[in-house]
Amino acid sequence: MLSEDAYAIAREAFGHTITYSPKVFIPLTKLCRDRCGYCTFAQAPARLTSPYMDLEEVMAVAEAGRSVGVTEALFTLGERPELRYDVAARWLAARGYRSTVDYVATAANMVLEATGLLPHINAGALYEYELAQLRAVSASQGMMLETLSEVEAHRMAPDKDPARRLATLHTAGQLRIPFTTGLLVGIGETREDRIDTLTAIAAAHEQYGHVQEVIIQNFLPKAGTAMAKWPAAPEEEFHWTIAAARLLLPTSIHLQAPPNLSDEPAALLAFGIDDFGGISPVTKDHVNPERAWPAIATLGDAVAAAGLHLAPRLTIYPSFVGMRTDFLDASVRPAVLTLSDAHSLSRDDHWYSGDDAPPPPLPTRDVRTSRIQALLRDYTPGYEFSETELTTLFSARDGDVRAVVDLADQVRTELIGSEVTYVVNRNINYTNVCTFKCRFCAFSKGPLSLNLRGEPYLLTLDDISTRVREAAERGATEVCLQGGIHPKFDGEYYIDVVAAVKAGSPDIHIHAFSALEVFEGARRSGQDLTTYLTRLKDAGLKTLPGTAAEILDDDVRALLCPDKLKTDEWLAVHEAAHGVGLHSNITIMFGAIESPEHWARHLIRTRDLQLRTGGFTEFVPLPFVHMATPMFLQGKSRRGPTFRECLLMHAVARLHYATVINNIQVSWVKMGIEGSRRILQAGANDVGGTLMDENISRAAGAVHGQEMDLTTLEALVAPLGRPLVQRSTLYRTLARG
Ligand code: SF4
Repeated sequence: MLSEDAYAIAREAFGHTITYSPKVFIPLTKLCRDRCGYCTFAQAPARLTSPYMDLEEVMAVAEAGRSVGVTEALFTLGERPELRYDVAARWLAARGYRSTVDYVATAANMVLEATGLLPHINAGALYEYELAQLRAVSASQGMMLETLSEVEAHRMAPDKDPARRLATLHTAGQLRIPFTTGLLVGIGETREDRIDTLTAIAAAHEQYGHVQEVIIQNFLPKAGTAMAKWPAAPEEEFHWTIAAARLLLPTSIHLQAPPNLSDEPAALLAFGIDDFGGISPVTKDHVNPERAWPAIATLGDAVAAAGLHLAPRLTIYPSFVGMRTDFLDASVRPAVLTLSDAHSLSRDDHWYSGDDAPPPPLPTRDVRTSRIQALLRDYTPGYEFSETELTTLFSARDGDVRAVVDLADQVRTELIGSEVTYVVNRNINYTNVCTFKCRFCAFSKGPLSLNLRGEPYLLTLDDISTRVREAAERGATEVCLQGGIHPKFDGEYYIDVVAAVKAGSPDIHIHAFSALEVFEGARRSGQDLTTYLTRLKDAGLKTLPGTAAEILDDDVRALLCPDKLKTDEWLAVHEAAHGVGLHSNITIMFGAIESPEHWARHLIRTRDLQLRTGGFTEFVPLPFVHMATPMFLQGKSRRGPTFRECLLMHAVARLHYATVINNIQVSWVKMGIEGSRRILQAGANDVGGTLMDENISRAAGAVHGQEMDLTTLEALVAPLGRPLVQRSTLYRTLARG
């Protein structure tokens, strides 16, 4: 069956996630020089109070959308009305606009700048210079081909000339514009015509790779139009066309049907769509004003009944957003990243790591998809997930999130019981001067830093000894030392720091030096890693923190921290450390620019090393705190992970590392109190250090305190009904309660 094949292709290509774009509809002008036989959108000037919406009206609609979480501003308008109506030409001229396209560019830019909503512009058949002008102020553009056949409905519509519209589609491709197009079914074209139109779209996409989605829209007759007495597109033809489109189009093109033009939109899923297009909680569908949008919750329930997830997307589809595409204009990219999650879909919450907003509840819709359920059903602790399997788990939504989290919590109980552990420690960041150029780092004072906070400093060795002494007097069992890479440091410096710590307290556990510090220390000493690490160990170093890992993938590192050590070098430092008897841990800084495939590779590479050495004690996810980082302020990163992504990072890691690394830590500095509590129910068992003087996250904008006192820690854990246990750095029990 055509539809079964189409459905299978859609699931294979896009998984179990069905998308929609929360939008406001901005009908900038309802004047149009075309007279399509089915259209009620276009109006005569006499029926309008003004030929165009003015900028205040545009902003009012955009603001109304922004206030309820909408991400798309859809500009739909008539084509070149100034060529037909003097009133339109005069309105534009009086305000200094050369054309309707010129005006829409101004309005879209204002919306983008003032609200962050992403313009999607449907301005019709355009010339190259017009498409280019709109590219700079929009995340995507669109134009329905409708049909490439000559139909009576278009006889009075010069802009519906098939060659002209096809030329627009191709020019958009040449300009690298993420583009939406589509077919209107039932306006006099035949099945063969539809196949020809789909084939032409596929050919344009093969050439330029720019068609992000194809809309299959069913014609519905409207009173007062030339086609008022035409029959609606027969359901069978509509469904056949959706399925044919899915079979004919490349799977890199998404397939959409409008959700408000069918009585049961979810039934269209069976024919191969994976998207419902824009849905507005604020404005009506000005093209089909008689057809109300479905409520998102109702549509979500219907999609859930089909065993699929409904998720919000941005107007630009994920494959056009990724780290290295050139489809998005540089002036629009910051707004897109601000709204994106790790899948380059729309963030589904308003929680940000390091901020004090409470985390959202777990999703209530109990959709469990076959792919994730199969992975969880077959899972036993010790199982090593593949990259594809991990990426699938990271894509969990709705009931799948709960299932992953619940299994991680169960595995945590089975492997290490119910204790929640912590270590009393002090952070000593001995310098914030650094020669490296990590683009996420708000802590360092160096060549690339924005100098947003604080002055450059370098503690003396005596200062370090004093701080260690104070820490020991206050009950700390560990000091954690890390800092920038000061241009004056040589390899001996790190040895001297260890000696200074011992001078402050001979017995305190010295947990110090990221892989970068060790790598630089060895390099500046002219010694190999093993020799240098042995010297550090002999001086008194006990364990290494897993920092400087960021994302262990060189494609990501090239953008995040281009001059820092590479993936293999980070792994080599830890392998060498384990080889000389120094344990260490693994961190991952996630939520800045990377995608779930990179998380998967990070987990796999570190687990592989653990199988060889057994030297890692714990895994510490560090959600990216974006607020004051150079990358975010320059518009080059997202706003950290969503809370769902944080839950999944800890839970999936628990499953993946189970039996080889059994401690999963939550960072209270990044997750906050309530967030940490929730993560402790998602596979984590440790809250890390009490961290007197935590500086690095605070420099990035985190509001959570510089130190966790025992009372707060007890209050954090008490609602869980689990025992709180003080541990040593190497997880020996020191005190209960
Ligand atoms: S993260 Fe570390 S190495 Fe990178 S700039 Fe900041 S202090 Fe320097």
